[in-house]
Amino acid sequence: MELIQKQRPHAVCVPLPAQGHINPMLKLAKLLHSKGFYITFVHSEFNLLKLMKARDYAHPSVENFQFETISDGLPPDNPRGILDLPSLASEIQVDGLNSFRELIKKLNDSSPRLPPVSCIVADGVMSFCMQAAKEIDIPGITFFTVSACGMLGYLQYDHLIEKGYFPLKDESCLSNGYLDTKIEWTPSMGGIRLRDLPTFLRTTNPDDIMFNYNNQCVKNVLKTGSLILNTFEDLEQEVLDVLKTKFSNVYTIGPLSMLWEKLCGPKLESIEASLWEGDERCLEWLDSKEPRSVLYVNFGSLVIMTPRQLSEFACGLANSKYSFLWVIRPNLVDGGSIVISQDFLEEIRGRGLILDWCPQEKVLRHPSVGGFLTHCGWNSTLESISYGVPMICWPFFAEQQTNCLYICTQWGIGMEIDTNVERQEVEGLVRELMEGKLGIEVREKIEELKKRADRATEPGGSSYVSFELLIENLTGKNA
Ligand code: UDP
Repeated sequence: MELIQKQRPHAVCVPLPAQGHINPMLKLAKLLHSKGFYITFVHSEFNLLKLMKARDYAHPSVENFQFETISDGLPPDNPRGILDLPSLASEIQVDGLNSFRELIKKLNDSSPRLPPVSCIVADGVMSFCMQAAKEIDIPGITFFTVSACGMLGYLQYDHLIEKGYFPLKDESCLSNGYLDTKIEWTPSMGGIRLRDLPTFLRTTNPDDIMFNYNNQCVKNVLKTGSLILNTFEDLEQEVLDVLKTKFSNVYTIGPLSMLWEKLCGPKLESIEASLWEGDERCLEWLDSKEPRSVLYVNFGSLVIMTPRQLSEFACGLANSKYSFLWVIRPNLVDGGSIVISQDFLEEIRGRGLILDWCPQEKVLRHPSVGGFLTHCGWNSTLESISYGVPMICWPFFAEQQTNCLYICTQWGIGMEIDTNVERQEVEGLVRELMEGKLGIEVREKIEELKKRADRATEPGGSSYVSFELLIENLTGKNA
């Protein structure tokens, strides 16, 4: 039965304005829409302008779904790359909160055209939005877009500080084996090394912005008692058991790609939020390749590497003799433009395709893709599991190190490359993944995990049920 507008629940969904946060929040927003919610999806002013330049984006043609904006507090000429994260983290808490309060007021003043705002779903690192929810006395819930194992790392901050592990005593701790110190973790995993924890901890400065920002956000979320995670019970059961001792409600609704496909189908596909335009030509190129013959290489939206690392990856890929599809963002290399030599292009002609950005999920779903060289961002990891593609891991920052540990040792669905990237290692691991004994093992394991993810998102499955409970919570039906 069609809800009349006044009765329709209205969720305001607020991601951190970065691709890896926007994507899962948008999927959650679409899922809520499929359950009858009116959705206001909040971009930063900067990102909405960027999206509008790329396509006719301002007004999605879907009923009961709109975009609004808040300020991210940064000047328009700020590139908003990885090095600007500390400025973003400090500015958005002030400017973002003020502008968010104004937005909520504007939305509520728009009645009866819009239903009154009935709940706020905010990113874990936009936890100031919970304050706004409290001020107007409506339910607010945080969605941490990281893995449960990554979240457990963030929850350990105070304990690690108390024990004197962090901040680091001096810079030498980064290279003298100190990061190999083991700390307690979950019952079956015993110890994990300090280097497997979120990299924001690796600072000598107790006032470091990112060190403190994440800690503060986690504390704010702990106060709310509830948490949404893009994971599934069968994948991270043991870590989730620990998290459930700290939060009264943990809604595990992942992999969101799968749940979204099952509940929404292609209906809301027209609403997307890629900050760069995906080059669809790669799909035709993949069509021309044999099944599982191509290695897909993508380091996500924020990684930066040195020119040497880029060159080692390039030579390793070329020497492996496998076909590869490599996404090299224009700002992938630290402090300079990317130079790909004519000789290299000549050498990989026909078997190597290089692009700025691609529609990643369509690529991972393509039968020609046999492996994924990734930075272990949580979305990329879950997308790889959802499409059964084994990984080679080169974690870069944040909780990607924890994800890598789980991928390679707990789940056995990937192999790690050393931080210092050497071409021989790249070449060897690509061959091992695509044709070696270990490659067969990791493929079998990820195919099994894919089946479990599928079961979790089917009616009656853990993620499906968790999502229904979340809806009840947000609509006050289980209050
Ligand atoms: N992505 C994409 N095309 C690309 C690179 C990335 O569509 O060429 C998407 C990818 O599917 C994922 C997100 O961008 O949903 C990246 O998130 P992730 O957590 O993996 O990494 P981050 O960019 O946050 O480091």
